Amino acid sequence: MTANTGSVVATEALSKDYLAGVVTVHALRGVSLAVNRGEMVAIMGPSGSGKTTLLNMLGCVDLPTQGRYWLDGEDVSRLSDGALSRIRNEKIGFVFQTFNLLPRLTAAENVRLPLLYSHRRRPREAASQALERVGLADRLQHRPSQLSGGQQQRVAIARALVMEPAVVLADEPTGNLDSRSGEEIMLLFQELNREGVSILVVTHDLQVARHASRVVRMRDGRVVADEGMADGVDARDVLAAMPPPEPDEAAEEGA
Ligand code: ADP
Ligand code: MG
Repeated sequence: MTANTGSVVATEALSKDYLAGVVTVHALRGVSLAVNRGEMVAIMGPSGSGKTTLLNMLGCVDLPTQGRYWLDGEDVSRLSDGALSRIRNEKIGFVFQTFNLLPRLTAAENVRLPLLYSHRRRPREAASQALERVGLADRLQHRPSQLSGGQQQRVAIARALVMEPAVVLADEPTGNLDSRSGEEIMLLFQELNREGVSILVVTHDLQVARHASRVVRMRDGRVVADEGMADGVDARDVLAAMPPPEPDEAAEEGA
């Protein structure tokens, strides 16, 4: 396989071993995966199957033990730490289950953080524009503790988008949310994807995966299935079929 320029992410026989004491854990055992620009792909698999490890390799958090990786057409398998952190900052948007916002910073300051670590110039308004894009234009000065879980995750998504990354990598992004807030996050991902954002979502929940157009299944560090989503859902329909939010929640939303 060559560096397919149509792929935002392409790996060839990626493997990752962890040394845990005297035991070597083969967390990834030869993963070859290509994700097209503008795709939304779900990665599923039981606990311990290597989903987070794969996301860390794709996100340039850590180097694979073996194999090749092209991100946005560039071979990033053998880069130095400095080059990797630059690529991570500019090309990758991370979204975590636990949001990972800094509690003392406002929403706008949290979203601005990636800009501070970057050499690439971005417009001054990039952070407020990203917050507007996730529907939080009226929450710029709120701290995480003053926001609902769903709103905190939207701040995290704005932070992931602020550098206009090549791909957004989300690890169980709805895992800490109630079902309605989780569905609203999946609606946001579907909207961003329709605007052309490439998204990989790791989940163990088929209902979450059904929002993607393709599902990659992992087991024991390998891809065991990779297919189009047969029974996909549109989050707008799912939300419309849900009972309305509790009145007190609604009041809080409008506050
Ligand atoms: P998943 O996200 O699918 O639950 P992980 O990628 O977290 O799976 O883990 C895959 C395997 O690698 C597991 O057996 C896990 O225990 C092991 N593993 C993950 N990270 C480390 C690490 N830093 N050191 C040692 N073993 C690890
Ligand atoms: Mg995991």
